[in-house]
Amino acid sequence: MALRSIPIATTGGESRTDSLNQRIGHRSTSILRYGDQLAGRSRAIDAGHVRDASGKRHLPRYRWSDPASTPSYRIGIFAGIHGDEHSGVIAALQLLHHLELHPMIGRFHELFIYPVCNPWGFDQGLREGASGRDLNRLFWQEEAEVLLIEQELRAKRFDGIIALHTDDTSEGIYGYVNGSTLTRHLLEPSLDAASSILPRDHRPEIDTHPAERSIITGGYTGILSAPPDQHPKPFEIVFETPHLAPLGRQVEAHMAAVKEILRIFPQISSQGMDI
Ligand SMILES: [Zn+2]
Repeated sequence: MALRSIPIATTGGESRTDSLNQRIGHRSTSILRYGDQLAGRSRAIDAGHVRDASGKRHLPRYRWSDPASTPSYRIGIFAGIHGDEHSGVIAALQLLHHLELHPMIGRFHELFIYPVCNPWGFDQGLREGASGRDLNRLFWQEEAEVLLIEQELRAKRFDGIIALHTDDTSEGIYGYVNGSTLTRHLLEPSLDAASSILPRDHRPEIDTHPAERSIITGGYTGILSAPPDQHPKPFEIVFETPHLAPLGRQVEAHMAAVKEILRIFPQISSQGMDI
């Protein structure tokens, strides 16, 4: 099972995880245990998991804030909305770990990291949510299954949204751009950075969409995105790795892409680049 590749501890003094244990499955619990232990040791990481009023639905959430400055940019990083795509989940946790070791990679940022956006699917090893539907087609349609994530998107008003996915029909990395017009100026260099680990998908059509230089503009409706009334729009990137590539490589590619986006975004923003 994929999760063996992160050092998941089986014992420890976790607290918040325990209260969620009754409601979530083994895999999600492992993720939370690892993340909560990181948070417990770190001054920069907070575990602030979200639950709905009934206590039935939950959304694991970690916040990391640049300890060296007052953060200027708030970025949301979302993984595991498709429950059978593990590399993004692992990458999200490894990112937390790397931020703890090398805080410079998150300089000027406040990051909200949601490693498992579809806990039910993740625990079952299924793409879909509990209703059998693809959660990443349900956004902003008053669907209960994505309500917690929507609440976060509304409350945080992110400057940037990064969603990590894998694609079993692709043999290379690619991405979707939406939102702010500067999004492609972030995705392009991040694909470049990640292409040292896995090749790009160069096909003119990817995942049924026209693509240019591994970039799809637009894509499906109902995907995880900023609230329709949020202005100015944040950058919105979906980063995809080839599902059948070695898991470790996918994780590395996700990490390289995210780090590059985090590195470049403050530069582009502070230059007030007119794009
Ligand atoms: Zn996906």
